[in-house]
Amino acid sequence: KLQLSNIGLNIEPSLTLDISSKAKSMKDKGIDVINFSVGEPDFNTPENIKSRGIKAIQENLTRYTASSGVVELKKAICNKLKEDNNLDYNTENIIVSNGAKHSIYNALMAILNPGDEVIIGVPYWVSYPEIVKLTGAIPVLIETSEENKFKFTIDDLNRVKTSNTKMIILNSPNNPTGCVYTKDELINIGEWAVKNNIFILSDEIYEKLTYDNIEHVSIASINQDIRNLTITINGMSKAYAMTGWRIGYAAAHKDIIKVMAGIQSHSTSNPCSISQYASIEALIGDQEKLIEMNKQFIERRDYMVNAINNIDGLSCKKPEGAFYVMVNFSKLLNKNILGETINSSLDFSNILLDKAKVAVVPGIAFGNDNYIRLSYATSLDNIKEGINRIENIIKG
Ligand code: PLP
Repeated sequence: KLQLSNIGLNIEPSLTLDISSKAKSMKDKGIDVINFSVGEPDFNTPENIKSRGIKAIQENLTRYTASSGVVELKKAICNKLKEDNNLDYNTENIIVSNGAKHSIYNALMAILNPGDEVIIGVPYWVSYPEIVKLTGAIPVLIETSEENKFKFTIDDLNRVKTSNTKMIILNSPNNPTGCVYTKDELINIGEWAVKNNIFILSDEIYEKLTYDNIEHVSIASINQDIRNLTITINGMSKAYAMTGWRIGYAAAHKDIIKVMAGIQSHSTSNPCSISQYASIEALIGDQEKLIEMNKQFIERRDYMVNAINNIDGLSCKKPEGAFYVMVNFSKLLNKNILGETINSSLDFSNILLDKAKVAVVPGIAFGNDNYIRLSYATSLDNIKEGINRIENIIKG
């Protein structure tokens, strides 16, 4: 038997990637699958950004860069944080990584010791508990309720806090629930963190995807004490349809960034030079495309939410951000569909994939077995067809 690391063996494979690849391989076999499991915009990277990438190659900007990212990109990020988020940072407060996920990994590696506890709300983005476990720290999960828009409260935080609590992870707008914390809620959470000297990892990757005039607030902008304890995470993937370019970043106290940069310098070195130059264009170039994408997301969300709530046995709340809908199917639990009993979100997802050729993510991937997650990062036609198929399967 191979003797592998305890930490490595303790990591769960990513269920979301699993389902996406099963759906992809069905598609490759010519099966007409509607894919609601994707976690990336279906739009192409805007032309101006692609052109900047091509130009970077032609200009031979293809060598190692500073390990924590090129200064021009850091400056563009500082400007963005100032303009969009009312955050005053210098380049020494910024690190550019291979995607937001990598920035999160670096931040957790820089802050957590084995045995430290990290509070995470359920449902959570799949990678948070696993990245926490990679550092030897312990994820502490708090349940939230659909009635409270899947948000955790100060009472929830007090209930799970111990002397080992080192960090809370905040993800607003949220994957998978689409919830967006209000400024008042963030003030309360921030003050709680300061009172208890607890770090806040604020993952704001879906910042540009909020709807109905809902305001996104960066918790670090509330006051200096909160800011000192906050690592703000963001990136290019979702806002600019740049998932494959792999550029994310973190902004925080310079002492935290310095340790993160050290970790990055010995693990991956700099993120792709070409992607970094393209990202400068993304941040400083024309933002029109963002507005267009947002419009389409709203139309798709509204259709999907309405259609789901018209299906007997399914229900969902209207998400305020991101591009996912959490669908409550608990009324179908223990029921029979086409001869198969639904005992879990995995059962339901498998039935939908096998019988309806619709790929969704089982809620258990996010810690909640009464839900499935549907992504509306696909065309309205696909959404109409996919929801029809789900309805027909449930009707039997
Ligand atoms: N954070 C959340 C909540 C996400 O949903 C994702 C991607 O699915 C990421 C971070 C990672 O983004 P990136 O592509 O920048 O690594």
